[in-house]
Amino acid sequence: MRRMLVAGNWKMNATGEFTRDLASAIAADWSSGQGGVDVLVCPPFPYLSAAYEALGDSAVLLGAQDAYFESPGAFTGEIAPEMLLDVGCQYVIIGHSERRHVLGETNDIICQKVMNSLAKGLKVILCVGELLQEREEGRTQSVLADQMQGALAPLEVHATANLVIAYEPVWAIGTGKTATAKQADSAQEYLRNWLGSRYNPEVAAGTGILYGGSVKPANALELLSQPNVDGALVGGASLEAESFLPIVHSAVKIANS
Ligand code: PEP
Repeated sequence: MRRMLVAGNWKMNATGEFTRDLASAIAADWSSGQGGVDVLVCPPFPYLSAAYEALGDSAVLLGAQDAYFESPGAFTGEIAPEMLLDVGCQYVIIGHSERRHVLGETNDIICQKVMNSLAKGLKVILCVGELLQEREEGRTQSVLADQMQGALAPLEVHATANLVIAYEPVWAIGTGKTATAKQADSAQEYLRNWLGSRYNPEVAAGTGILYGGSVKPANALELLSQPNVDGALVGGASLEAESFLPIVHSAVKIANS
């Protein structure tokens, strides 16, 4: 059975004090969790340990925003999945659109990162999503298929248990422009069917597919109530407990309805 996941991607925002304050506020609200929903925060690398400490024994999970595809060694500036596990991470985001489009990550790099992180024991949130021009040209599905195939080609069925997909239309990230609930659900239904053809109906039915792109308290309930939306990857609104927690509580409402 799929669980809802609400994940905060803090991107390149935070200080030590900010991390302690925000992680503590989320932990205080989510001390023992609530049925059917997982809550995750993904601070920048330097603040993972501070976040881990501030989360304490609450039910809030910790994740990172990227991980390299090699084991620890001579790779200056990179971070290995082994290190993320060591500081308390259970999840890692791979293939975020900012890494694809700002930092030039290719499907091939993303694939290696997905494979290495899963092999080392992290749960992976693989981000996929089309550019505005690609949507306007009617190429959304072919772009999604290309990104899924590019990232998952070598992944065997038994390793899909720790995979989460995040559908993040690039034109909706950090722009305030949200995909309509129908647009999100239809792209996510396509991704679910893709998983069904690539693997089998159990993988399609069991894999969590999040929506990301200007999710906020005002639109969370409608987006999260779509049949193919199993949670949210939240950027801007995850930087304040006052906007992140209402999204979490929308997920609780839907998971328990
Ligand atoms: C994101 O960074 O994954 C994201 C969806 O950002 P925002 O919520 O700010 O659009």
